[in-house]
Amino acid sequence: MPDCVFCKIIQGELPCAEIFSNDTVMAFLDIGPLVEGHTLIVPREHYENIWECPPALGAALTEAMQRVGRAVMAGTGASGLNVVMNNGAAAGQLVPHAHWHLIPRIEGDGLLHVQQKEYESRQHMEALAEQIRHRISERAG
Ligand code: 5GP
Ligand code: ZN
Repeated sequence: MPDCVFCKIIQGELPCAEIFSNDTVMAFLDIGPLVEGHTLIVPREHYENIWECPPALGAALTEAMQRVGRAVMAGTGASGLNVVMNNGAAAGQLVPHAHWHLIPRIEGDGLLHVQQKEYESRQHMEALAEQIRHRISERAG
């Protein structure tokens, strides 16, 4: 994808602080980290979001998350790790090339704290589950 910043990094047209690379994915430090060591894992192929990614990517991606995630924690002294993916502008996706954020965490760092809500009733919760369940289809897209 000619104008995609992550495709340019993958093609070597833009620099990056590379962490890991194989035939399927590449990992490099995020240029605007939430915390030092914040790493991105990107598929080499251009897929815009989770729905465009072929399910078969899952195995290589999981392996990279495990290997890179462990190294990010060890290399930064973190004791926890968030794996986050933003899909769509409303979810905060800025770069339209699918990617996973690996964010090293230490106890009490206060990052990513979001107040949880409560359902108004069990009945409302069940009705919403049904509304969503109803829309589960065979196809991934
Ligand atoms: P998103 O909001 O799309 O989930 O995350 C995009 C991430 O890519 C952001 O955290 C941003 O800092 C990072 N990013 C944007 N452009 C570049 C770049 O040219 N190089 C690197 N290493 N990271 C980038
Ligand atoms: Zn791309």
